[in-house]
Amino acid sequence: MARLQLPAIKRDPAKILANGKATAPPVTEKNVKEEKAMSINVGIPQALLYHEFGELWRNFFTNLDIPVTVSGATTKRVLDRGTSLAEDESCLPLKLYLGHAESLLGSCSHLFVPRIVRYHRDFFLCAKFAGLPDIVRNTFGLNAGQVIAPNIDGYRPLCRLGAIRTAAGAVGRSLLAGAASYRRALQTWRQRPPAAGGPAVGKVALIGHSYVLRDPFLGGEIIALLAARGVATVTPADLDGKAAYAETRRHAPEVYWQLSARLAGAACHYARRPDVAGLVLVSCFGCGPDSLMNEYLEQQVLKDCGKPYLVLSLDEQTGRAGVATRVEAFWDLVERRRRQ
Ligand code: SF4
Repeated sequence: MARLQLPAIKRDPAKILANGKATAPPVTEKNVKEEKAMSINVGIPQALLYHEFGELWRNFFTNLDIPVTVSGATTKRVLDRGTSLAEDESCLPLKLYLGHAESLLGSCSHLFVPRIVRYHRDFFLCAKFAGLPDIVRNTFGLNAGQVIAPNIDGYRPLCRLGAIRTAAGAVGRSLLAGAASYRRALQTWRQRPPAAGGPAVGKVALIGHSYVLRDPFLGGEIIALLAARGVATVTPADLDGKAAYAETRRHAPEVYWQLSARLAGAACHYARRPDVAGLVLVSCFGCGPDSLMNEYLEQQVLKDCGKPYLVLSLDEQTGRAGVATRVEAFWDLVERRRRQ
């Protein structure tokens, strides 16, 4: 297994004069920090919430002149590696995360793995997000300095400031520089373009986590299959977050997990919308919140909505041919209904 290379602090020999007197700046705490920052390269696994906040995280570091390496696209090999590294009962996205993290080890000095407990007033994230830095450290035998793990546990500015301090400090930057960098990164992130639309013969709502639907190797396959038939897809990300949470509060106020609440709200909304011809629930093997939420959605929302629906559960063994067959059969059913 490759190992993260912590930056070594080296003096530049070119800065040593022939008479032996060093022209290099004195070794002050500030200079050591600057030199350290120069040899830092932050790796970010392209998995889990990278699919929502990746651009924000990347820009935060690049605004601070810190090079960033994002892991490549998901492949079967990345998934297989993650599966062999993870505990058996881990959910599929966590296995994938570990595969992506491992692929960065040889080329980065640090991994950015935020500890996210919650960032919404009313909801929490599932425990995997809170434990992610520890899981990564333990899996790869890394020390605390090699994993940049800001603690995100709240929605108030003070909490954000604490997280910025940790992330900026880990790469030798001040809180002030970190806050300015974060502000700029946030502005850019908020201006990101909405999902592309386009002509379509029908619309299917895919209900699943962003890190499943936006990963070309997982949900991307389903989107491509439908697109090949001229079918447009909408996802929970296409629905304003506030609208989705309001739906959930109305229909399932007991939902505690933020990502499940987003899915439930989107399912309730799309099940009513006349331009949505059918719904596909895309869940992951090993996801506790999904297993409860899918049951609820199937019994309370989908069975009575009068639209065809399909429940797909993906795991590392799921064959592409099997998914394609089920999605195509589902779309045939939608088309038959639309013609009636
Ligand atoms: S919500 Fe489910 S899929 Fe997502 S990290 Fe938690 S257990 Fe895994």
